[in-house]
Amino acid sequence: MIAFERDTSDPAFERIRGDAPLLVSMPHVGTGLPADIAARLTPQAATLADTDWHLPLVYDFVAALGATVVIATQSRYVIDLNRPPDGSSLYPGMATTGLVPAETFRGEPVWRDAPPAGEEITARRERWWRPYHEALSGELARLRAVHPRVVLWDAHSIASVLPRFFEGRLPDLNFGTADGAACEASMIEAVLSPVRAQSDYSWVLNGRYKGGHITRHHGRPRDGVHAIQLEMAQAIYMDESSPFALDEARSARLRPLLRACLGRALDWAVTG
Ligand SMILES: [Zn+2]
Repeated sequence: MIAFERDTSDPAFERIRGDAPLLVSMPHVGTGLPADIAARLTPQAATLADTDWHLPLVYDFVAALGATVVIATQSRYVIDLNRPPDGSSLYPGMATTGLVPAETFRGEPVWRDAPPAGEEITARRERWWRPYHEALSGELARLRAVHPRVVLWDAHSIASVLPRFFEGRLPDLNFGTADGAACEASMIEAVLSPVRAQSDYSWVLNGRYKGGHITRHHGRPRDGVHAIQLEMAQAIYMDESSPFALDEARSARLRPLLRACLGRALDWAVTG
């Protein structure tokens, strides 16, 4: 296995730099918690059940494709990197969690006392949220300087059954392009071609999950940045109950399809 150099110079994220027109973002994989924040979590929140577990392992092939990878270090309970900086709802009228969540996905309180507010949220935004987004903007600009088109792939996963957010079981693969605003249609068609050719995994495009702030903000097809979010049901690669172990067999079965999708995205960016 090739070792890729991880840049850990900013505590908010780890970064692997590649030269291909593909940037993979993982905003919810962090499990880091500053000590003063960890001390305030309820026991339920302290399990970090809402983490997008194991995505760097599931996507272990992307650096070898030449992709640049930006990986969050801190838990989404510190601040949610895929929410707008003003804390406005991603899905008005529907249940969602905020910039600093007050409740877990299962509706339990995150904080022993009053949830963070005001200046504390502002301070967390400057300390953790801004550096992550500046890293995305900086890497996209670096890649755009040498490639006419760049794909931004925002990688997520979530428990497959969460009655607070959706009925029944989530499809395995939930692709989001902000209802088509975040990328050219030909890009998502390229990504979906291996998905359409298989029947092992259920999927949907712009269903319950259409892409969060990262997809909507950084996806600017007219500027050559084409964004897509993939929200995966965690059951297809891991055990969804604590301690949230990776399932090696299931992740090995999933990886070739992901690799095909990312490969198609990259081919699309290079050749059109
Ligand atoms: Zn996520």
